[in-house]
Amino acid sequence: MSPVEPLMAVVDRIGALDAIREKVEANERLDFEDGLELLESNDLLGLGDLADLARRKRGGSDEVYFVQNLYLNQTNVCRVKCKFCAFAVTQKQSDAYTFTAEQLVEDALRQRELTGFTEIHMVGGESPHLDFDYYVEVVRLLKQAMPQVHLKLFTASEIHHMTKLSGLSHEEVLVELKSAGLGSLPGGGAEVFADRVRRLVAPGKEHSDFWFHTHRTAHRLGIPTHCTMLYGHVETYEERVDHWLRLRDLQDETGGFLAFIPLAFHPENTVFERRGWRHTTGSDDLKMIAVSRLMLDNIQNIKAYWIMMGMPLAQVALHFGANDVQGTVVREQIFHAAGARTETEQKIGELVRFVTDAGRIPVQRDTLYNELRRW
Ligand code: SF4
Repeated sequence: MSPVEPLMAVVDRIGALDAIREKVEANERLDFEDGLELLESNDLLGLGDLADLARRKRGGSDEVYFVQNLYLNQTNVCRVKCKFCAFAVTQKQSDAYTFTAEQLVEDALRQRELTGFTEIHMVGGESPHLDFDYYVEVVRLLKQAMPQVHLKLFTASEIHHMTKLSGLSHEEVLVELKSAGLGSLPGGGAEVFADRVRRLVAPGKEHSDFWFHTHRTAHRLGIPTHCTMLYGHVETYEERVDHWLRLRDLQDETGGFLAFIPLAFHPENTVFERRGWRHTTGSDDLKMIAVSRLMLDNIQNIKAYWIMMGMPLAQVALHFGANDVQGTVVREQIFHAAGARTETEQKIGELVRFVTDAGRIPVQRDTLYNELRRW
């Protein structure tokens, strides 16, 4: 290679970002190649600037949202055995648990007195020892005990699991859960949609077509949902871009996604840790926030999930296209089992300070992004 070649490569790349900036300025949609250029760029601050521009061009303001929510896990028993998961156990393991509907309600009521949350976010393992009636009962009793609280429950994989347990269709399962009180679906179970990646990290999980089928059906039934990508393991940049484009297509079709949340892979206590895998870097995390904002031009809210990123980096992410820091989480177990170190309880005052210090306006919202309070 001649000494000028690396320099030429840098110049080309800067030129590519300029071309993308022109598209963003003109509100033009970015394509697959643009997505790759963005991910391959090392101009981190340039990416942040571009993402912030895109956010503002699409109507974003200085508001940063958060929700006061309670995290519950109904069971950690799971048949799927995803390779990235440090949470699941088998029924025989000593730390296995499955809460009854009554226990979940009792726990939630106690937490509500302490924190006054407006949302319950509950996901869990796919236990073969439960039946569909259990899930309906959990939703029904939670709604009965706390009618004002929004119930954001069960990933698309869990919904799929319920179709297997019950013999019902995805639509029938969702209709029944909705009439019991289900408000929305979280975005988990998406992982990375590419078949190659799923075969490597989650061979026991259903095909990604079922994830889309579940979310499309939910949207048609008037159940809004969230979407995610678990990045930083075996996926390529091409597979990340493909994932965004598939989500963008569904959003074009239904408009049912409330927010996108990029989730960094935590290797601790998984087989990947034994193989020497490391955490994503802060640079990759910020890049993911920025490129998510740029590629997902039809999803209004991009979350910097502070429980995984840590608050200081989430604060920077607010200048990389994020407009939501998720919530004042009361309890979180899945990512802590996988080594997330952030404190599980974040007081509102502290969250407000972080957002204000980042030069933004903190707004407490409900799950559907209605404003409840601002500072
Ligand atoms: S990620 Fe979910 S489906 Fe996969 S093993 Fe863990 S609990 Fe089960």
